[in-house]
Amino acid sequence: MAMSDSKQMNCPCCGSKMEKIQDLGNSVLVKCTECGLSDTALKS
Ligand SMILES: [Zn+2]
Repeated sequence: MAMSDSKQMNCPCCGSKMEKIQDLGNSVLVKCTECGLSDTALKS
């Protein structure tokens, strides 16, 4: 079992890399570097 906390997300819209822009405590706000789509991802 890999212990990597750098979960790489890809944009569901264009498939580009999602960049972490804000830490929301139990989740992180991420934004696509290409199309600007933002999303939240739960931390484990
Ligand atoms: Zn995108």
